[in-house]
Amino acid sequence: MEKVGVIGLGIMGEPMARNLAKAGFKLSLWSRTPHKAQKLVDEGAELCMDAPSLARSVDTLVIMVSAPEDLLEVVDKISTTPLHNKTIINVSTVSPEAVITAEKKINQAGGEFLDAPVSGSKGPAIQGSLVFLVGGDKKTVANCRGVLEAMGSKIVHCGDMGSGSRMKLAINLLLGSFMQGLAETILFSEKMGLSTDDLLEVATSGAMAAPMVKLKGEAVAAGDFSAHFPLRHLHKDMQLVLKEAELCNSPLPAGSKISEILNGAMELGLGDKDICALYSALKK
Ligand code: NAP
Repeated sequence: MEKVGVIGLGIMGEPMARNLAKAGFKLSLWSRTPHKAQKLVDEGAELCMDAPSLARSVDTLVIMVSAPEDLLEVVDKISTTPLHNKTIINVSTVSPEAVITAEKKINQAGGEFLDAPVSGSKGPAIQGSLVFLVGGDKKTVANCRGVLEAMGSKIVHCGDMGSGSRMKLAINLLLGSFMQGLAETILFSEKMGLSTDDLLEVATSGAMAAPMVKLKGEAVAAGDFSAHFPLRHLHKDMQLVLKEAELCNSPLPAGSKISEILNGAMELGLGDKDICALYSALKK
C-alpha cells in the first residue's frame, strides 16, 4: 500500500489528509503542534516525531503550510534525509520563487518535487473537490495523479515548475477583488436601505451569479465571519501578487488598493477571521 505523509494540519490540511486515508493510502503525519494531529491519529493515522522521520517513512509527502518561509523551513528539515524514490508535493499557496528553491533542495536530496497549490476552500477540501493548479514535469504529474485525485476533482497542468503557484496568485487576485467588491456592494445596498436578502437573490440570479457570491454573501448576511479562508492568508497572497506583478511588469491598480485594505484589516485584528470580514473592516 502506498504510504502518504502530510505536514500542515490546519483548515485545509486536516480534511485533505482524511481524504487520503479514505482513498486507501496509508496515512502518516508530522505536526508542529502535535495535538492538531490527534483526530486523524484516533482515526488510524500514524504520527511521526519529526519531519525527517516522516519523509523517510513515506513514498509521497504533501505539504500544506502557511507561507513561502514555512515551506522552505519544512524543506530544509526534510532534505537533511535522503529522498530517493520519494515525491514531495507542495499544496500551500507560496511564491513561484519558493517552489523553484524547494525543488532544487529536494532534487539535491534525491527526491522529486511538484508545485500543486489548490483552488477551493474548506468545503471543497472536506468534499475532496479541490482543483489542483500544477507546475512541474509531466512524468511527476502523472506519478502524483492518484494522490491528487484523492483530494480533488480536477488537475490543471499549468506548465513548468512555478506555473502552478503563478496560476494560484492570478486566481487569488480575482478572489480578493471579488470579495472586496462583494463587501462594498452589500454595505452600499444596506446604506441605500435595500434588503441584503433581496440583493443576494438578484446577485445569484443573473450573470453575476457565482458560488462565492452565495457562500460569502450569506455568511456576511448571517454575521458569520468564522474562518474558512483566513483573511491573514489573503493578506499574504496579495503581497505575493504585488511582488510577482512587479517582476513581470503588470499594472495592478485595484490589486494594490486591495492589498492596502487588507493591511488595514490586519491592523484591526481581523487576520484570523474569514476573508468576508473585509465587510467588517469596511463598516468600522
Ligand atoms: P491554517 O489553518 O493556518 O493551517 C496551516 C498549518 O500549517 C497549521 O497546521 C500550521 O501548524 C502548519 N504550519 C505553518 N507553518 C509551519 C511550519 N513552518 N512548520 C510546520 N508546520 C507549519 O491554514 P490553511 O487555511 O489550512 O491554509 C494552508 C495553506 O493553503 C496556506 O498557504 C493558504 O494560503 C492555502 N489555502 C487556504 C485555503 C483556505 O480556504 N483555507 C484555500 C486555498 C489555499 P501549527 O498548527 O503548528 O501552527
